[in-house]
Amino acid sequence: MEPDNLLNYISDSNLKGIAKKVLTGNRLSKEEGIFLFEYPEIFEVGLLADFVRKKKVGSFAFYGNNLNINHTNICEMHCPICAFSKNENECGSYTMTLEEIFNKIKKYKHTGIEEIHIVGGVNKNITLKYLEDMFSGIKEINRDFHIQALTAVEYDYITQKEGYNLNTVFKRLKKAGLGSIPGGGAEIFNREVRKIITPNKISGERWLKVIKVAHREGIKTNATMLYGHIESYAHRIEHMIALRTLQDKTGGFQAFVPLTFHPWNTNLQDKVKEKTPLYDTLKVIAVSRLMLDNFDHIKALWMYMGKECIELALHFGADDMGSTSIEEQIVKSAGGQSNNLLTDRDFKNLISRAKRIPMRVTSNYRETGDGRRET
Ligand code: SF4
Repeated sequence: MEPDNLLNYISDSNLKGIAKKVLTGNRLSKEEGIFLFEYPEIFEVGLLADFVRKKKVGSFAFYGNNLNINHTNICEMHCPICAFSKNENECGSYTMTLEEIFNKIKKYKHTGIEEIHIVGGVNKNITLKYLEDMFSGIKEINRDFHIQALTAVEYDYITQKEGYNLNTVFKRLKKAGLGSIPGGGAEIFNREVRKIITPNKISGERWLKVIKVAHREGIKTNATMLYGHIESYAHRIEHMIALRTLQDKTGGFQAFVPLTFHPWNTNLQDKVKEKTPLYDTLKVIAVSRLMLDNFDHIKALWMYMGKECIELALHFGADDMGSTSIEEQIVKSAGGQSNNLLTDRDFKNLISRAKRIPMRVTSNYRETGDGRRET
């Protein structure tokens, strides 16, 4: 849609004012972000977000083929939002040996996976050496595998436990094969919300600091936001503005990844009875596209949002559909859809139905079809 037509479509004068700012490349304020969440006509907000998406990435929509390794579910943090973690001696707790990890990767090697996505619990038995050996061993299986691994919370813990600084940890893991960082653990940065949903995790300020150091070490990351629990619209917008501010300084973020909270089997399920509705998820996609003017990619993950939702999300500002995510365990523990896999063909069909061009990539947006594009 052309800019003039877009403006004609919008009736509300406040939204028209915001649209004019967006069309002329001006940054939106906190108040304008909250207004967008409160504005009832989501299709008008979606149209605006779709316009920006098209300007950023054209007709392409991205996806990847990856295998998830959740190497341990033993975690010291006991976050009320979590349905995945266990105590060390609890029934069902595990830590994978390196051999088990390598065997799992070899089992799926023939399926066309191009990336290994690794996150786990904050476990005192995980050492920097274990992680180095894991990454270098994965590279020995296939040196072209892209390794996207660990949250800022895990990096912070390993530095504290082993007495290294963050720069050293990132340098060593990068040398061992680390390609990028997925951006988990951000949740919602607001302190009061964090006290309830993740009281033992690092603060929002520390999360941003860890990621800033990773960016300075030349490691690209994503940034997540967990929504649909007890947070307000203002908390969401403040979270996005903090990310936007860091991106201005480092340019190290690749994609914003909103994660829908799944309450089932968590300690928040008495407070949050249901997953947030589709309407809200589409707003999060659209508003993040409009607020995060310095992010190229907005990722809609099917195992968090549902397959039908990600198809719609492509029309509300999203350009990245996530990955096949074989063997994903974390969101599955809380009632997510990850036992109902999307294949490479499913992604191509879904993206083509939306009249976009499917492009298979790694998390660094290196095109893997012909393996020639690295950004
Ligand atoms: S959300 Fe992460 S840090 Fe928190 S308990 Fe679960 S695995 Fe541990």
